[in-house]
Amino acid sequence: MTLIAYQQALEIIRSRSKTVSETETVELDAAVGRCLAAPVIAQFDSPKFDNSAVDGYAVFHHQDLAAGTTLRIAGTIAAGDLPTQTFGPGESARVFTGGYLPRSCAAAAMQENVDVHDKTIVLRASLTPGENVRKQGTEFRTGGLLAMPGDVVGPGTIACAASQHFQKLVCVRKPKTAVFSTGDEIVRPGSSASDSQIYDSNAPMLCALVQIFGGEVSESRIVRDSFHALQEALQAASEQNDLIVTAGGVSVGDRDYLPSVVEKLGVVHFHKVSLKPGKPVLFGTIGNADIVCLPGNPASAFVCAHLFVRAALEAMLGQNRPHPRCTIALRGDVATGNRDEFFRCVLQDGEAVIHGEQASFGVQSLMQADCLVHVPAKTHHKSGELRTAIILR
Ligand code: AMP
Ligand code: MG
Repeated sequence: MTLIAYQQALEIIRSRSKTVSETETVELDAAVGRCLAAPVIAQFDSPKFDNSAVDGYAVFHHQDLAAGTTLRIAGTIAAGDLPTQTFGPGESARVFTGGYLPRSCAAAAMQENVDVHDKTIVLRASLTPGENVRKQGTEFRTGGLLAMPGDVVGPGTIACAASQHFQKLVCVRKPKTAVFSTGDEIVRPGSSASDSQIYDSNAPMLCALVQIFGGEVSESRIVRDSFHALQEALQAASEQNDLIVTAGGVSVGDRDYLPSVVEKLGVVHFHKVSLKPGKPVLFGTIGNADIVCLPGNPASAFVCAHLFVRAALEAMLGQNRPHPRCTIALRGDVATGNRDEFFRCVLQDGEAVIHGEQASFGVQSLMQADCLVHVPAKTHHKSGELRTAIILR
């Protein structure tokens, strides 16, 4: 197969990944990062009632008042009080921030702007009707659409839902994901490694990423470089999962069996992308599960997971908006070859600076990078030119 453009690879993933249709009701305090399956509709107006924006004095006079005006203090309204007393023109009431303002209230004067005498206040500044009053329904009205299916729940969504007396949110079931590292040289941390073996950094990293991207890891282990072992692992995983993510064994080496295993068990939608790092990436389907096969070098697996595994999970969750990209100045001159490149960069003074370690076997830059910056193929990038970046989080 010929190399396909990375944007085309993303489009294939987005169009072929199957959306999860099952939903779950999730407690608000466990809902952060989940994808909504039902709209959040306003149950009542916000603000719920007219209330004071300041600590001061509610004023019951529906005309502009000049500095020097004297008003009688006729009562007190603390936050949480529901006043029963009626107030009229020429009167004021001590009020605190968030205090309920009766409809007869015209405005609230900041306490810093009044002189307080025994039973009266004198305005130090003029006061206009509406000043310092948070009017009922000015943020949104009962029935308003606050969040939509496909929105990802953030702390702000939780604040908004809680303010509307929601205790639970209806969310899309997390796509079940199996994660496999492959390679005869790979040993699970905790087991002993011979001098020629290395510890598995991909599966632990990919498990973390899958969770950040909104998936649920159902199993994670190392599979040997054997056609049969891989076939067995993928066949079993495809029956239990929405997504399979593998690392290693997808290139052109004699023991890179994954392309032929996926081909045998299902369909390969693409293999090999015009991308650095990440040329050997494969995307396919086995039964009801989609499969993303990533290269084994940890930095390649990391970059390609951010691009392709994230895209698959976003599509499965029915997410409205893909993880945001931004435009940023990239410091340093670089020239790319025939493939698009993603550089691991750190943010410094509002610019992206290419991390000193770009080798695909490296792991330190994965920890230290703040963003991935895209430089298209055959580009002579001049320091300071704007590029698209993916913020890592
Ligand atoms: P592969 O894609 O299988 O050819 O592997 C490419 C390189 O990445 C080799 O040097 C592997 O030893 C290394 N590698 C593969 N899988 C892992 C892993 N899970 N953790 C760390 N390094 C790995
Ligand atoms: Mg290998």
